[in-house]
Amino acid sequence: MPKLKLKKSVKKYLIIFIIIFILLIIGIKAIKTYKYHQTYEYKLLQINYKLDEIKILTSKLDNKYLDDLLTKEYNSNIPKLLTEKYFMLKNLDRYLNFISKNPDKALSDIVALVNVNRDRDFYEELETTDTSKGSAMLVNKYHALSKDYECEDIVKVSTTYGYSGMSLNKEAYDAFKRLADDAKKDGYTIVILSSYRTYEYQDKLWTDRKNQKGIEKADAYAARAGSSEHETGLAIDVADYNNPINFGEQESYTWMLNNSYKYGYILRYPQGKEDITGYDYEAWHYRYVGADLATKIHNEGITFDEYYEFYLNN
Ligand SMILES: [Zn+2]
Repeated sequence: MPKLKLKKSVKKYLIIFIIIFILLIIGIKAIKTYKYHQTYEYKLLQINYKLDEIKILTSKLDNKYLDDLLTKEYNSNIPKLLTEKYFMLKNLDRYLNFISKNPDKALSDIVALVNVNRDRDFYEELETTDTSKGSAMLVNKYHALSKDYECEDIVKVSTTYGYSGMSLNKEAYDAFKRLADDAKKDGYTIVILSSYRTYEYQDKLWTDRKNQKGIEKADAYAARAGSSEHETGLAIDVADYNNPINFGEQESYTWMLNNSYKYGYILRYPQGKEDITGYDYEAWHYRYVGADLATKIHNEGITFDEYYEFYLNN
């Protein structure tokens, strides 16, 4: 019966083949599962992140941060922060800390405020201003000029363009002259009423007030020495020569808002941005940063502090 024998052995081989095939499938599946368990997607799912959140996390964070994230509890703010336009990875822990102290603030405000250091007290961790950035240098209550910083190219301002005794950085002054000449063609006489101040002068301004009224009142009145933009030689306070009071209510102010950036000047302490700049709204205070940068800041619609931290110091 050779036919039957053959059939029997074929059957035997077939069964062995099917068993091997099943084992192979099980093996491949086990390897696949093992591999998946090693992925960040699986691990993040285990601590309750959702798939759309995981997509954001894995596309924006490197392995070091993802590993760190796995040691912490689920936090829905993290993926949301990562999609904020001005999110900076180096500030992640500070954002989360600031959120816990300000749970009602919008995340965009949290990011903006922490980026400009407003989660820290004024003058608390003063950094020395990077003066190598030239007209793009940042001076505020977190970045200060050192006592021995020497302002370059300071020139006297002619009484055609400002009150007597003013001086300014030459490049800033040349730009202001072009600005003032063009404003005049449009019928406005814009003049400088405060400009370059030395460290010593700013120090005296603040210290005198401190001695009279205490630190709190002195800080509300003037920047501490090193932290006033006027010490850069790049900042000016302006007025309308024909209507010298309340510059913010003059037509010449509107002209400045619409045109000053073309000459390299930006309104430094805008209305509604007091929390960001750390200064009350000052319609008269303009800062020279150069026409290219001023145009970028104007188009971006953010303060110089925010622009600097995100684009020039990130
Ligand atoms: Zn000023």
